[in-house]
This record gives sequence, structure tokens and C-alpha cells, in this order.
Amino acid sequence: MASKSSKASRVFVCASCDHQLSKWMGRCPQCGEWGSLEERDTRALGALGIAGVAGGTGGSGRRGRRGGGLVPGASAQPVTKVDPTIAKHRPTGIGELDRVLGGGIVPGSAVLLAGEPGVGKSTLLLEVAAAWAKKGHTVLILTAEESVGQVRHRAERTGALHDNLYLASENDLENGLAQVDALNPELIIVDSLQTMQATGVEGVAGGVAQTRAVTSTLTTLAKMSGTPVIAVGHVTKEGTVAGPRTIEHLVDVVLNFEGDKHSSMRFLRGIKNRFGATDEVGCFEQTAHGIQEVADPSGLFLHHRTESVTGTAVTVVMDGRRAMVGELQTLALNSEFKNPKRYMTGMDASRVSMVLAVLSERCGLPLADKEVYAATVGGMKILEPSADLATGLALASTAKRTPLPLGLVALGEVGLGGEVRRIPQLTQRLAEASRLGFHTALVPKNCHYEAPKGMKVKEVSTLCQAVNYCLASA
Ligand SMILES: [Zn+2]
Repeated sequence: MASKSSKASRVFVCASCDHQLSKWMGRCPQCGEWGSLEERDTRALGALGIAGVAGGTGGSGRRGRRGGGLVPGASAQPVTKVDPTIAKHRPTGIGELDRVLGGGIVPGSAVLLAGEPGVGKSTLLLEVAAAWAKKGHTVLILTAEESVGQVRHRAERTGALHDNLYLASENDLENGLAQVDALNPELIIVDSLQTMQATGVEGVAGGVAQTRAVTSTLTTLAKMSGTPVIAVGHVTKEGTVAGPRTIEHLVDVVLNFEGDKHSSMRFLRGIKNRFGATDEVGCFEQTAHGIQEVADPSGLFLHHRTESVTGTAVTVVMDGRRAMVGELQTLALNSEFKNPKRYMTGMDASRVSMVLAVLSERCGLPLADKEVYAATVGGMKILEPSADLATGLALASTAKRTPLPLGLVALGEVGLGGEVRRIPQLTQRLAEASRLGFHTALVPKNCHYEAPKGMKVKEVSTLCQAVNYCLASA
């Protein structure tokens, strides 16, 4: 952290033209550059008698940092003396979001919420705004996409009406910053980066130059004011934030909001997090009342049945640090074609094909010439190799027209030799399956794990052995 001088001696220097101001502005009035004004330590400047020497306010690597290494902002200190509250997370009031953020939102941070159009980013942020407002904090939503009337309408529908929640319809960055200045909110939400326009910057709104200017200005705004900014960034089908992913390095945190058009489930993943881990995933569901968090998602990916059905199997996959129980369903039909078709939904087609080949070649099951369908339940993605064993059992169940026992989960990667290979985090997966009432598990041999109380764990070394164990009577 920079040594904070008193408010009176704050000075902001343009990294582009060295113009000095006593107040932070989004755009340098001298050269017109956006987001170029940075706070400098006046004492350091005075001591050296030159402008443009960094006081160490972070954001290293910017242009104009001539000789920035000469004056350390603060002397080095033992790690034990570092104030742990520097990056203090403030809970947003939405547990699943806080989980991904690493405990909450950090003051002065810039967060990019990326996702495909229509996935529900605006709705999610309205929930965040409402939760924040209900805690007694002021929130400003700068909406460049929708009118304030549209946002109010959605707020009514989702129970987000609150006096602390302010709306302004602005697509001009300068006007947006004036709104921030006038209200002095404690959280700023910008929807979206691609529809904000920075005057004087080349290109259309949403273009690379525009999006970069808007993003870097909002990031410095967050840093200078200490107010966190969450900005929406639209991602195209190809997975790039329109005006590409180059803006990711300009922000502190990048979250991806993902979901399938045919499913109401939404997943929030940390892609980058300067203040925490990125291996967490948050679960949400899109309902008529907005985007609601799902604190316990596992049960959603199962068909709760009292009778087993042929062709289905259950496994546990890891999504980040979270174990999730999911169901696989398969069907095999006689095909008229020489190269029978394979239809996969939510599964890795190449892994399913590999498991099919192993079943045909090593276990002698007649599946090679069949048209095969394989799908997950509830829009879940089951792409991990650890789901191979469950995939194999589901397909074997289809081929033998015999259901697997109820209450069984299968965990293990399958190799081309038909061997069942070890998988990571077995203890955690078994615990989650047990919690949801599964009482028997098939696992690879030679794994280190702790079996949950009351769960029967059967170790298998090959897929054929697992098939025989579960479907022996067939
Ligand atoms: Zn300037």
C-alpha cells in the first residue's frame, strides 16, 4: 500500500502527459486519455523534484512509470507484520457469490462479470445490489443497456426494490462518473462495459479500444475511491468478451456466469481472483423470481426414484472444490448405418466413445454397432474422466437390459485396457454421495480414502469386474 498522505496533499498525475490534478477524474483534461490519472505521493515527488515518479499506488506496469523503481512506496516488512485486513472481503449477502469471490467483495476492487447474452448477468447483479442495499449500503446501477423503467420492473418482479438502490441510465462514461461523484455510492454496478462510450476514444462502443478505455477507467475509479465496481462483460459464443479477453488483465477479479439455454441452472466460476482462489463454483437457479442461489445443488442432478431404470448410473464429479452428485442416462438402439451415430448431452463425446470401445472389445458387450445416446440430468456437465466407470456401467446396463442396483455410485477413470484408474479427492466424493443417501460405491483399487460411516465401498480393478459385480444376474 502507498503511504497515505493527508487528503489535502493528494495529487493525481496523468501517466500519459504528466498533467497534475488535485481531484481524480476519469479522463485527463489535458490530453483526453481515459483512466490515466493515478494518485502519487507528493512528498516523493517533491524529494526528487520530478513529476511522473510513482508513489506506489499499485497497478504496476502502466505507461509513464519512468524510474518507478527508485522510490519504494513502503519499505519491505516481515510477512508477520503485514496487516491481514488490507484486502478485507465484505460479504455481499449472497452466499454462493461470496464463495466464489473468496468471502465477499474487496473494497476498491474491480470485478468483471462475464457471460453470454441472456444468461442472467443483469438479474444476478440486481440481486447483489438488492442484498447490498438491504444491509444499509448505497448502490448505484449504471445501466447503459436498459432504461431505468425496465430495471425497476425487474426489481419489482424479483423483490429488489429498496431505497438504497439507485438507478441511472447512462451510456456515456463521463456522465456515469458524474453520477458516481454526485451519489458517492458504496458499490457501483455497470451494465455493460460494451455499451458504455468513452468520448474521444476511437471506435464504436463495444469495440476493443472503447471497451479497454471504459474498463481501465472503472478500475482506476475503484482504486481511487475505494468503492468496488462490478461490471458486466458480454461474451460471444466463441468465449471471448466482445472486444476480447484482453480486458481481463485490467480488472482484479473475473467471474464467468455460465448456463445452458435449456436448463435453469447457472454456474458462477472464478477465472481470475487477485484476492482469493479461483477453484470455487457458485450455483444458482433462474426462476420466475430472479436468479436464486442454490446452496445444495447435488440433488438437482438426480432423478429421485424408488425404482432403478436401465441405462442410468450415478457418479460424483468435482467442480472446483465442490463435489456434485450427478446422473448419467444412456440408450442404445439398433442402427441401420455402418457408422452408427452417437448423441451426447453434457458429456465428453470422446470419453463416451472410448468407454463404448472398451465395453465392446474387453467385456464383449454388443454396443459397437448401436446408435448410442448419453445425457446428463438437469443440465449438469459431466466431463471428468472420473465419470468413465459410471458411463461404462450405464451403457452395460443398457446393453444387458438390466438396471443397476439402487443407491449405487461409481467412481473411476477407465483406461483402454479396461483397467479402472485412480481418481483424486475420493474421500470428498464419497462423503457427498453418502450425504445424499447412496449406500454403495464402486471405486478404483489402491486409492487412499476414508469410507463414510455406513457406506459399502467395493474396490474394482477393471470395468468388466464392475459390470459383473453390478449386473451379474443378467
Ligand atoms: Zn493526460
